[in-house]
Amino acid sequence: MSKGQIITLAFVTVLFCVANVKEGIGQSIFGAILGFAITYGVIYWINKRKSITPEQKAKIQQEKTQKLKQKQQLKQEKAQVKLELQKAKLKEKELEVQRKTLKREERKKAKAESVKVKEYATPPSQPVQSQPSLVCPHCGSTNIQPLGQHKKGFSVGKAVGGTILTGGVGALAGFAGKKTKQTDFVCMNCGKQFKR
Ligand SMILES: [Zn+2]
Repeated sequence: MSKGQIITLAFVTVLFCVANVKEGIGQSIFGAILGFAITYGVIYWINKRKSITPEQKAKIQQEKTQKLKQKQQLKQEKAQVKLELQKAKLKEKELEVQRKTLKREERKKAKAESVKVKEYATPPSQPVQSQPSLVCPHCGSTNIQPLGQHKKGFSVGKAVGGTILTGGVGALAGFAGKKTKQTDFVCMNCGKQFKR
């Protein structure tokens, strides 16, 4: 506390004391205490502010700016984390879409392959071979019955069974009663009819 401040404090105290003399001694003392308290408070506040050196001020400022920076950094980090989360979500979505499309393509491929396999499974109708030996041109079996000559011994049941096995009932349809110059044969193995 400087000299001027002490004088001011004393002056204000006396002033408050004198100003209340008319009201009686009690009021006068109360006024003096009030004046002293107010003045002392003001002086104390001024001195506290003054006591802060520029270095301390700079330090306080620095701390403030640092805190601000830290806050900003935290904000930025949070924003980045959010962005990364969003990116991850997007990537997951993309991956899922890719997986779905891959599955679809695989299914398509599998379908196409199965169709191909079916095409291979049904061999192209072989041209009737002009071989003298009696061999079924469809399955290669030698279990052949000439329709014209051995009609009596021809077992329709066996032939039908054969056709059902290969799935070609239509092969049998219409050969009964047909008489051409060529001899009709029927394979007892697969039930297919052919001419020789
Ligand atoms: Zn056959």
